[in-house]
Amino acid sequence: MAVIITDTCINCAACIDECPVEAIVDEDENPTGEEIYYVFADKCVECVTYHDVPACAAACPTEGCIQWDDVTDGMPASESRGEKGTAVVE
Ligand code: SF4
Ligand code: SF4
Repeated sequence: MAVIITDTCINCAACIDECPVEAIVDEDENPTGEEIYYVFADKCVECVTYHDVPACAAACPTEGCIQWDDVTDGMPASESRGEKGTAVVE
């Protein structure tokens, strides 16, 4: 599942343009219907080959909002990734 945006998201849009693979959508496009931004796990590459740290989490002003989830089969996994449910940027 790559990284996941949690319900502390304030819909500020800081992350969306930072994603190198356009894996993030806003609350209007969130397939779960939640009023928060969303990461498509089948698109997220955990910023491998693009950035040392996931760019979305580096840009997010909300502490702990973007967390690690399970690795998605067939997708890149960051060597520095943490456990599922931990903040991508502490
Ligand atoms: S970790 Fe990188 S590739 Fe994944 S959603 Fe965030 S910015 Fe996009
Ligand atoms: S930067 Fe963080 S708080 Fe802002 S929209 Fe993205 S996930 Fe939500």
